[in-house]
Amino acid sequence: MYGKVTLVGAGPGDPGLLTLKGREALEAAQVVVYDRLVSPAVLALAPEEAERIDVGKRSAHHPVPQERISQILLEKAAEGRRVVRLKGGDPFLFGRGGEELELLEAHGVPFEEVPGITSAIAVPAYAGIPVTHRDMTSSLHIITGHARQGKELDIDFQALVRTKGTLVFLMGVTSLPQICAGLLEAGMDPETPAAVVERGTLPTQRKVTATLSTLARRAREAAVSSPAVSVFGPVCALSGRFDWFSALPLKGRRVVVTRPRERGGTLAGRLRALGAEVLECPCIRTERICPCPQAEAALEKIGAYQWAAFTSPAGVEALWALLEEKGLDARALGGVSLAAIGAGTARALSGHGLRADYVPEVYDAAHLGAGLAERATGPVLILRAEEGSPALTAALEGAGVPFEDVACYRTRYESEHAGEIRALARAGELDLVTFTSASTVRGFAASLGGGDLSGLLGVCIGEQTAAEARRHGIPAVVARKATIDALTEAVVAAAGEKGAADTSRDGREG
Ligand code: SAH
Repeated sequence: MYGKVTLVGAGPGDPGLLTLKGREALEAAQVVVYDRLVSPAVLALAPEEAERIDVGKRSAHHPVPQERISQILLEKAAEGRRVVRLKGGDPFLFGRGGEELELLEAHGVPFEEVPGITSAIAVPAYAGIPVTHRDMTSSLHIITGHARQGKELDIDFQALVRTKGTLVFLMGVTSLPQICAGLLEAGMDPETPAAVVERGTLPTQRKVTATLSTLARRAREAAVSSPAVSVFGPVCALSGRFDWFSALPLKGRRVVVTRPRERGGTLAGRLRALGAEVLECPCIRTERICPCPQAEAALEKIGAYQWAAFTSPAGVEALWALLEEKGLDARALGGVSLAAIGAGTARALSGHGLRADYVPEVYDAAHLGAGLAERATGPVLILRAEEGSPALTAALEGAGVPFEDVACYRTRYESEHAGEIRALARAGELDLVTFTSASTVRGFAASLGGGDLSGLLGVCIGEQTAAEARRHGIPAVVARKATIDALTEAVVAAAGEKGAADTSRDGREG
């Protein structure tokens, strides 16, 4: 029995432009065969265990020939697996989707096609260009600017100019001078507004606006490279007024997210939605201490504690792993009151059906300690990392509240991305770095392995994190509150202030 092949359009780059149906197919995939223009964030939606096959094509040399791609799809389907063929934009628009289906159809392999948002329309849209407008044009033409090897462009420019429609060229960076010359010769007004948009819908999008007569030169000066779409027609004149994407507060900014990936999702997503290019470089990893005699002993006499305090979701999960190993569940905690350092930790508790009895207003160790000191009359069990902040225990000590500080997990300072971070730092290409704990600062500094960090700006979740950043020579600002919302706000504010001093990275924009 053949498995099914689903041809899925991944959209032009912004991972948010994948369709719901495409996402469903990806989440159920056993094999994903993907192209060069597919965004890593889209690819990440496939299950971790799915086989991933990169058949990315580059314009001059084709590493995987088309016939071979069709063959791979057939082979994987013959293994009875659910195969997703993921293609940039829409699979049937200059995507060779049809060619790939031919072999499948001939062998009776079941297949489906999930259309995607095409770059031909979405990329102009992200550059503030509506491809049609009632007062300006009544048709849209999408043309390939790619000439078959060794051949001239096979385009009827006269016919195109006669339509008076908006003309969108894909795959036309190399041939842009010929395209412009062809349109001019065919009688198009040299003053016709025109634009070329590179890496559209991505944080690194660049746009060059000009006229038909100046576009080729302006694009060359700006060193525009593939992928890019070129647009010709009066609608291009709207791009200044409607350019919502360039106006996003973090557009053109690179922001490093250092927290562990399993919890990094929301912050990275929020920053991307504001236009930032986000580098997810988890610099720490938490690892349960196992075996953990101290935690086991504490669990055995859990009834002796009045409070249990958690300073991170990792502490909650470590306790849970231990309970499960012992064949226990939430009932084992009995009447112990629960304190969580912040909303994230409280959420981790509620994930196990437990409500936090106390969460301090300011989410840090000192405030957690002070709050507990006011509330606790009996012993407090602290379940946290090996090198927990002394502020928590100092507050309890000061108030004479008995406590037991149990290390149930440790932080490993390591990053798969250390090399990448170091290279960017050396090139002066790192700018804003977010820190959600003192340990992320230590992990980041360790990844960089020394050097002058004074050119960076650390945007920190709290005072203690900022103090750690400053200790490593990283200038730091602190979020108004220890929440992801406030941290995001602080990044926007910092970008605004730092932007004036730096020559912004999208300075080449036309
Ligand atoms: N099926 C795709 C097009 C494939 S041809 C679609 O529907 O979008 C590849 C061409 O698409 C590139 O040469 C470029 O012209 C265009 N393209 C794709 N992604 C792009 C992007 N993010 N920005 C600009 N152009 C893009």
